[in-house]
Amino acid sequence: MNNQVYTFGIYLHRKFGAKVHKVGINISGFTCPNIDGTVAKGGCTFCENDSFSASTDRVQELKGFYLNLQSTTNPYLEKQLLQLEQQFSAISARQRREYGAQKFLVYFQSFTNTYAPFETLKALYDKALTFDDVVGLSIGTRSDCLEDKTLAYLAELSKTKEIWIEFGIQSIYDETLLKINRGHDSANVQEAIKKAKSYGLNVCGHLIFGLPDETQEMMLKTAQAAYDLGIDSVKYHPLYVVKKTALANEYLRGDFTPISEALYLDTLTKALLMKPENVSVQRVTAGINDASLLAPQWCSDKNRQIKNINSELKKHGLKY
Ligand code: SF4
Repeated sequence: MNNQVYTFGIYLHRKFGAKVHKVGINISGFTCPNIDGTVAKGGCTFCENDSFSASTDRVQELKGFYLNLQSTTNPYLEKQLLQLEQQFSAISARQRREYGAQKFLVYFQSFTNTYAPFETLKALYDKALTFDDVVGLSIGTRSDCLEDKTLAYLAELSKTKEIWIEFGIQSIYDETLLKINRGHDSANVQEAIKKAKSYGLNVCGHLIFGLPDETQEMMLKTAQAAYDLGIDSVKYHPLYVVKKTALANEYLRGDFTPISEALYLDTLTKALLMKPENVSVQRVTAGINDASLLAPQWCSDKNRQIKNINSELKKHGLKY
């Protein structure tokens, strides 16, 4: 009998006694300081800045309009709130219909969802919490973009709602973060995680295996460091190459070799075996099944990836 990996779904079901789904939201007007030039231009080398796909109903009027932490006005707030409502309504209805979802976490997913004036963030977070059967929020952001005021507000919300912050940790090695043009170092992420935890917030850490020049030992050291920081949940991803990115150019020049599926499976299994029992798992792989994927091809078929992951885990008495 294989032991079930402790998934985020299990965590949520135990806590809320219902099937809770995350509803991924993509608000127009949001960007990232690693894209808009505040920290750097171009973003992380693997980031295709238009690839976020929570929804296709981007508000046309907002094309070319972007917020940042210095923005003093936001003439499009009403439109963003409407967009939030429409996306939630469409996606949650589908999740109820197709998967039997009963409750929801609104997941501000695309770009950096604390990178806007506080009033805008507050309005969006507050609105999301008014929707039917919403138990809380999950907010994807960068470690260099979280102001004390926002943290304090989220801590206040967390007294009655389920509040998560998701940070891209990616690697604890600064030389790797430089190679992927991350725009912050590892110390910055570590500080941000500790700070979010000190505010009583739940933290999910995102890890990438297969970053440029990283050995398996480095990947596992990153996983261990993330666990040691006290993350509550984790997402594991293989690094795959999407067309029209800086990483695609490196790959085409022969300067980057994607991780093999065998190495990914072995690293993932080891990372899961090292994981503290209380850390829930939100994702064990990633990929894309359209023509934008350049390499590796094993990242093109999610079902096959999960099947192969389960075959590997089975050898170690685990199942996902
Ligand atoms: S931090 Fe996220 S949104 Fe910003 S460039 Fe990197 S991957 Fe893209």
